Amino acid sequence: MSPKPPSLDVSLSGGPLLRDAIAVVRELREAGHESVFAGGCVRDEVLGNAPYDYDIATSATPEEVLALFKRTVPVGAAFGVVRVLIGDHEFEVATYRTEGGYSDGRRPDTVSWATARDDVLRRDFTINGLLLDPLEGEGTVIDHVGGLDDLRDGVIRAIGEPDERFEEDKLRLLRAVRFAARLKFTVEERTWEALRARAHQITSVSVERIRDELERMCTQSAPSEAFRLLRDSGLWGHVLPEIEVTESLLGRIDRASVMDARGAWTLICSELVPGDAVSLCKRMKLSTAHTRHVEAAVEILRAIPSYRSEDLVARKRLLRREEVSTALAILALDEGPDGAPPGLVEARGDLTAWSREALHPAPLVSGADLIAAGRSPGPGFKLALEAVEDAQLLGQTMSRDEALVLALQKLDES
Ligand code: ATP
Ligand code: MG
Repeated sequence: MSPKPPSLDVSLSGGPLLRDAIAVVRELREAGHESVFAGGCVRDEVLGNAPYDYDIATSATPEEVLALFKRTVPVGAAFGVVRVLIGDHEFEVATYRTEGGYSDGRRPDTVSWATARDDVLRRDFTINGLLLDPLEGEGTVIDHVGGLDDLRDGVIRAIGEPDERFEEDKLRLLRAVRFAARLKFTVEERTWEALRARAHQITSVSVERIRDELERMCTQSAPSEAFRLLRDSGLWGHVLPEIEVTESLLGRIDRASVMDARGAWTLICSELVPGDAVSLCKRMKLSTAHTRHVEAAVEILRAIPSYRSEDLVARKRLLRREEVSTALAILALDEGPDGAPPGLVEARGDLTAWSREALHPAPLVSGADLIAAGRSPGPGFKLALEAVEDAQLLGQTMSRDEALVLALQKLDES
């Protein structure tokens, strides 16, 4: 028997999600198993942040969990994880386990069922290694790893030997940075030294997992702090070698309060030419939709400085692009008491002044009209229809007949 670990009473933040999570714990207990909240949700409860999910750890085997609950999904039965559905909530219920050997630096070679203490020892950082018994008093935290002290002191510390823990799973290099930035914690010295020494090994993690971690860093609070830590640890050069972490980039990120993933990638790529931005997005395996968004937004970013010298049609064609809000939001980050980036004020003014209808006039003629007028489809169609649209964007009013005459004239010229 190991000595009784330190514990702390907390009062849980409540809500229907918590109520259902407690119901899962209770059900397991009543069937004679140990069961507790584990990991990130305990960290968040102690910090007074409402968890957005509750993970449950138990001595019950996956088979026992599957047998006990009506609605279950065996998501990772080999790793001991069963998803349990209660009402409209779902919970991951994981059997206490130890992990043996990490020969690929990503996943354990073997897992075996174990005690609660063993289960926390396999976790990454002390603040993520806490357990919580929600049925004891208002809620009692059980701490086998010193996580409560580190939460109080604002420290990210590897559980056990930092060097070994990063060696086992290189994704933890990025997780350390993400938690430090999000929580405004410092990385404990030995953990930081091990992280820096192994920064180059991040390249053995799949680009999808790296991308997901980076997106989480960008969409959480304090993304610029994450970027600084990535830079200072040496991780940056291995994950985003195309981009230089300049003070101006960090400043922009500091001022960007909330970003979505597309906005974050656009910001990261904001100093690249569109072609290089696309290469980066492809290398990071962004979805086609996100890649297109970044490409278009970067194009718009580069077009705004000469906005004032464009004609009305070009301005409208630019401002009606869907990605314009991303681009203007990024340019607005460089706005200060000394002024705004060229073109921004005018573009923003026009965007507010112009109605949807002004930017997207209802088409007066279509390809079908041109065919009906005896022309055969070809590359000239697009130009002819655009000529009509240009006239509409210039504010000319035309009947459908006049528009058709104009289109046919353009088509016959081309
Ligand atoms: P978040 O709020 O970002 O979801 P989290 O701590 O809940 O943070 P998850 O990725 O959801 O993080 O993982 C849940 C728990 O599983 C962690 O708190 C940690 O105990 C453990 N864990 C997750 N990933 C790892 C890892 N790569 N190595 C070791 N333990 C891990
Ligand atoms: Mg989580």
